[in-house]
Amino acid sequence: MDLLHTQLNNIQRHLAFVAVDPINWKLYVQSFSWAVTIFESYLLIRQYPLYSKTEPPAVLAQHFDPGVFEKSQNYGKDKAKFALFSGIFKQLLDSLMLQFGFYAWSWSVAGTLLAKVGYGAEYQILQSIAFVFILFVLSSIPTLPLPAYGTFVLEEKHGFNKTTPKLFITDLLKGWGLAFVLGAPFLAVFLYIFQWAGDRFVPWLMGFMISFQLIMVVLYPTVIQPLFNKLSPLAEGDLRQRIESLAGNLKFPLKHLYEIDGSKRSSHSNAYFFGLPWSKHIVIFDTLIQQSKPEEVEAVLAHELGHWYYLHPTKMLAISQFHIFTVLALFPAFLHAPPLLRSFDFPKAVAAQPPTILAFLMFQMILTPLEAVVSIAMNAVSRHFEWEADRFAVELQDKLQDEKMSDMGDRLGRALIAIHVKNLSTVWVDWLYSAYHHSHPTLTERLRGLESFQANRQKKSQ
Ligand SMILES: [Zn+2]
Repeated sequence: MDLLHTQLNNIQRHLAFVAVDPINWKLYVQSFSWAVTIFESYLLIRQYPLYSKTEPPAVLAQHFDPGVFEKSQNYGKDKAKFALFSGIFKQLLDSLMLQFGFYAWSWSVAGTLLAKVGYGAEYQILQSIAFVFILFVLSSIPTLPLPAYGTFVLEEKHGFNKTTPKLFITDLLKGWGLAFVLGAPFLAVFLYIFQWAGDRFVPWLMGFMISFQLIMVVLYPTVIQPLFNKLSPLAEGDLRQRIESLAGNLKFPLKHLYEIDGSKRSSHSNAYFFGLPWSKHIVIFDTLIQQSKPEEVEAVLAHELGHWYYLHPTKMLAISQFHIFTVLALFPAFLHAPPLLRSFDFPKAVAAQPPTILAFLMFQMILTPLEAVVSIAMNAVSRHFEWEADRFAVELQDKLQDEKMSDMGDRLGRALIAIHVKNLSTVWVDWLYSAYHHSHPTLTERLRGLESFQANRQKKSQ
């Protein structure tokens, strides 16, 4: 532990200038966040002309009838225009809030409100929670029209929307309620650790974050998801038998097998698994079950179990812990830095002893460019995992010595095509746009991949 703290102190020494130099952090955050928005807009502008192509890629030609392809192109066009507008709109709002000292204003409002009910400035954690609440509510209101437009105009126009206005509003309120019920205690403990552990907070905070994530793994399926969706045990029959035997053969610790009413909100389809290492749940969207044959859904699950077999979720968790560690290791230099808060318009009295929440929030904004790079890297890792899971499905026949699985690649290909066609997913993708945004390879890439995995397998077995 002491070695860890020595190393962390070394990092802090390199960053000591933050505590004294009057750097114009606000200008820096403005420039970088606009740079990221402009780059993302540029990507959309690169991608946009591809929606005017009149033919699908050759591998997909036979699966799209011309009318459906045209629909998918129009859907893509509308989504791209909407993404361009919302990206710039949100950035404009953030930028105005930053420019006109909205954060400093919210902090003082939180303080004034609490003082009225008898809690002075010494109740810093309470003021932090009130501050985050005010910030969250006030900054969400102007962007509310965006999801409403997305659901009731865009998705509606292309035939996906199943959400009623009533469901939309209850979802929103439940979401806010949940954010408060989970967020307030989380924030309280998070800030308390800083008070209690002082500058030795890194390992304690890491421990807390990991425990919180594990608690969420248990709470999410049992408490949170049922607030929004109905999970019912998958009906007895061909599909259930196939999945249970697949799980059994792979020694996947399947505890519950659910069907979820995804169709309540939208006709987009999916399947996934989650849970603790010894007790997993598989969830399949009712839409997927309706759109594909049982042997194709089985192939989708074979891919999903590939993620489990290669420990992809655990690896992702490890990467994200490393990321959190890096962020926390850099933070102390920004925690005791009056010039930082001064440059974001906080009054001298607040900046002299920076409250943790404010320093952390401003620090997060300063990290925008780093976070953009991290997200590109995470997407690359995720795409690599998708390849591995696809290859796993193709090679399942060798792993399980089961001839019945020899067409798993074809079945997965058919299921992916069905999912893409029904979801009107984009099929022509600009490489740079894809590298930045996509956590999955494109459909054409995956179909080609499935073919080559199958060819390699056959070569090996000859
Ligand atoms: Zn996957």
